[in-house]
Amino acid sequence: MSLRPRRVAAVMATTALVISMMANPAHAVFDPIGTEPTGPYAQPVDANVPKRGCTTTLSDPTNASSSIPAVQVIYAWHDGNGNNYAAFVERIAKIVDRMDWSVDESTNYDQHINLSCRTGYNTSTYAGYAQALVIPEKIENGVIGGETPPDVIADDLGAAGYDNANRRYVVFEDFDGTGTAHCGPVCVGTADEWDSGTLLHELIHLHEVDHAKVTEAGIDEISDVMTSQYNDWQLDADFNNYYDPSEPAAMLYTSKYPDPRKLNVAGYSVFTTPTCCDVGYSNDLLTAQERTIEAEAPYGYPSSFTVSGGGWMQVTPPGPDNQVSARYYDGRRSLTMNVQSYADGFVSLTRRPPVTAGQRYKFFARATTGTSGNVRLRMSWYNSSGTLLSSTDSSLIALNSGWQEYSVSGLAPTGATTVQLSVMTPSGQTFAYLLDSLQLNHCNNGKTTDGCRLDA
Ligand SMILES: [Zn+2]
Repeated sequence: MSLRPRRVAAVMATTALVISMMANPAHAVFDPIGTEPTGPYAQPVDANVPKRGCTTTLSDPTNASSSIPAVQVIYAWHDGNGNNYAAFVERIAKIVDRMDWSVDESTNYDQHINLSCRTGYNTSTYAGYAQALVIPEKIENGVIGGETPPDVIADDLGAAGYDNANRRYVVFEDFDGTGTAHCGPVCVGTADEWDSGTLLHELIHLHEVDHAKVTEAGIDEISDVMTSQYNDWQLDADFNNYYDPSEPAAMLYTSKYPDPRKLNVAGYSVFTTPTCCDVGYSNDLLTAQERTIEAEAPYGYPSSFTVSGGGWMQVTPPGPDNQVSARYYDGRRSLTMNVQSYADGFVSLTRRPPVTAGQRYKFFARATTGTSGNVRLRMSWYNSSGTLLSSTDSSLIALNSGWQEYSVSGLAPTGATTVQLSVMTPSGQTFAYLLDSLQLNHCNNGKTTDGCRLDA
């Protein structure tokens, strides 16, 4: 193993402790012919999957110290099943291309995986590209007649020189192995069930993203590649668990309370910098603060929000774990609206995001109450003079004790240039509810029935 800078070694050691706790249960059955995830909609057929291609090419892939951070793809084999590299190399490259497609197609941001290749192959042909991309490595200490654990693979790669801190190793196991993310001495995302959802899931684990932490609050989370990788390929559709390409500097809690780690996969060093805008499954027209109410102290006045009518609001104070979202979800803060009965009450985003007349938009929010009460979601459409044109309301929602997601969608009417988002409470009620996880989707993906992302 080559010498690493001290700082990097410390980071790697920390990572190893963390990631050993987030590994998937091992799969008992070796099955390299995995099934691709099909949610939230089908991936393209093989011929139409964009070829990602090589981002960086090295004559010696074990000497990557001067290279940009990138993913190195490994085909791992041992004497149990033998070396089937020639048979599998193009299949593996296609799965990697699907991983890249999934990152890019998840949102309206253009973002890709940096892939490391080796010289000596004609990458203008798919066969040559596949051989440049995928490196075969025999795992000498692989378990024959049993399951090979990930640390054996990481040790083997490290001993073979694949140990650079600016590489993340995506390992296709041609033997009974595990679907796991493991760091130490090198960071490997492994799978013996080969599909793009599983390998992307493990690659994202290497950036210290846990399985969706919101499961700790017992809510219905939008399934995605970190919660349902066998079914779903997309990343964090509501931009609040681990991935917000619109604000790579916005940090999100990625594990259960009280774990303090915060990050944003949009800043993953082996990914390209996200650039706006193209068409993808999800998008959001809000800022991270508007979406998650995270930058505030408990009891404070939530910035970016305005109250009118019956009620008053505050950043949710600390409280019981099973009720108060201040500890759960995105920034571990939420907004509390204390509803008063004398008039309709409104919590509104102060800023009115721009819209295009004739286009469809969908407003999502999560809300919960420890008692009971009714709310509506409202989109109020304004023209360029700031005159209210019309509004679109959801049906009446009876809140419950779960952090359920609610939504309303509507077409921006002729003349509309902005929309105000509100949660309103009809008069005559006295109760408190908690609000969090807002999103404004521009419904233009062309792949779902109404062009919006799906509800949780
Ligand atoms: Zn996992």
